[in-house]
Amino acid sequence: MIDYIADKIKSADLILVGIGEELDALREIKVQLPEPENRFEMKMDQEDRKGSEEEYKSWMLPYIRRARIKDFREKRAESYQALSLLLQGKNYFIVSLCQDGLIKESALDQERIVEPCGGYDKLQCSEACSKELYDVPQEFRLLTGDVADDEEKISLYRRPVCPHCGRPLVFNNVDASKYIEDEYLGRWAVYRKWLQGTVNKAVCLLEIGVGMKYPTVIRWPFEKITYYNQKAELFRIHSRLYQVTEEISGRGYGICRRPEEFLKKMSEVFI
Ligand SMILES: [Zn+2]
Repeated sequence: MIDYIADKIKSADLILVGIGEELDALREIKVQLPEPENRFEMKMDQEDRKGSEEEYKSWMLPYIRRARIKDFREKRAESYQALSLLLQGKNYFIVSLCQDGLIKESALDQERIVEPCGGYDKLQCSEACSKELYDVPQEFRLLTGDVADDEEKISLYRRPVCPHCGRPLVFNNVDASKYIEDEYLGRWAVYRKWLQGTVNKAVCLLEIGVGMKYPTVIRWPFEKITYYNQKAELFRIHSRLYQVTEEISGRGYGICRRPEEFLKKMSEVFI
């Protein structure tokens, strides 16, 4: 199968890549650092405890999670290096659901990448009173990802607030209750335009580690493109959710494999 996919990549006019949760460092970090329950003392007043928990979840926890992204840097660099080998010299576009932003550190053409779920690079007003985005203050960039250590530091810092309305700032990603989407929408328009150019072309669709969290962004549209374009072929790589619908069974392939392993194996063919 690896050789078959390699041939398809080499002969394709265009390559559309979808990258999903299985490659998102944040997914693993959220498992390592879940939202705590009953973290605060039972003797506290019920309301106070709830307030403290909410505050912890929305304030400290995201910064500690953010500090852990660096632990995945090396591993992801390998995977993205492999992907850029596959895509070298090709006309491609990448849609990524990842929030870790690590693809930005790769050699891939950043103009050809859209990340609709946002990330941890920028802050926004929690109430979205304006569409302005803000940099993460310097002191938060020095956190280590060690929970006890970081909690102590953060408790000494002032929580960043919106300069317009004074309400707390939150990270500009899909977890924000009022997510400001302008950051990626411009690139999304470029992607839509690129897609128009795939009609009747030999398109190779690589769907890597995309689960069912946001099926309307990658999974379903990729199936639709494959269904309507007779020259398109879809390769769905996932450790569990690799199945493809019957309608595209002749040109859609499910490959049960972990994304990192798949990319490594594929790149060996291209070296
Ligand atoms: Zn505001």
